[in-house]
Amino acid sequence: MDHKIIASIMTDISENIVWPIIHEICKDHNKKVVNPFSARIGSGARTYHTLKRQNGKKQHIVTYGQKMLEDKRDYNRAVQWLTGREIIEKDFFNGVATYENIVAHTILHEMAHALQVIMGDRTYNSVHNKAFYQWLKLLHNKCGHEVLNALINKSQKKKVSLDFKINEIEENNPTPIINARVGKIYQCYLNKQNALVKLTKINPKKFAIIVIDEKHKENGKSYSIPKHMLDKAPEEFIKNRIDLNVINDAPLDTNQIKILKKYKIELKKRTLVVEVKKKNRTTAIVEILSGNDGMIGQKWKIPLSNLKENN
Ligand SMILES: [Zn+2]
Repeated sequence: MDHKIIASIMTDISENIVWPIIHEICKDHNKKVVNPFSARIGSGARTYHTLKRQNGKKQHIVTYGQKMLEDKRDYNRAVQWLTGREIIEKDFFNGVATYENIVAHTILHEMAHALQVIMGDRTYNSVHNKAFYQWLKLLHNKCGHEVLNALINKSQKKKVSLDFKINEIEENNPTPIINARVGKIYQCYLNKQNALVKLTKINPKKFAIIVIDEKHKENGKSYSIPKHMLDKAPEEFIKNRIDLNVINDAPLDTNQIKILKKYKIELKKRTLVVEVKKKNRTTAIVEILSGNDGMIGQKWKIPLSNLKENN
């Protein structure tokens, strides 16, 4: 039932937010939009764009399958869909694959096919081609956040949840964590053992997390946990549980970089620990704290984006 409501919200957003943006883009590229558009709800999983003759006139039609929405409720299933993988691999919505991000991205993906067809960039043997991803990226830039916000607001109004199907847990851990950030890595006591987890969403009373711990049997599962269950992960524990490259991909909000705090930078496959001495909007002066003797103590000017969290 919920999924039918979400699919109807998706059709609404496609017709009233994204289609007008597609018109704008076409105007910018001197392309005339010849055929009208409509979105519809499908009963199965199939979710697709087609240019089809209906009532004697060709029409762009996007279908959102209810079973697709149901299947994506499970994180492990969601990331098997192309749209789920795209978020992570191509860094849409900062690479965070929450259910709401996946649903919003699904709208943008299907609508990008409409744009691709109008632009003449769809060929028989090449559907998800380079041009497609260029149009998809442009749609994200033009209206990605508007689509996501509309989805969240309309779902709230209709009292429909946009969370993954999750396993609720109540346990006691006396260490509350302050300033927890989405995308960062923490630990959490799950199933009688500490697990390495990534924070995916901050709700008023709970945290949504995904287990990213290869040595924990809940690896890959999503949970909603009481906030006090999230804990800082000691460096040794992280190293034991996960490939460090994954951690280096954790997004770092450059506004949050603090003076006198330690960060990591990568240099020719080596990782150096540095301390930020000064910073402005785009660069930082850092002092090298690790590396060979000649290097330690040197001060370098580097872009803020090169700094990684020193977990
Ligand atoms: Zn596609």
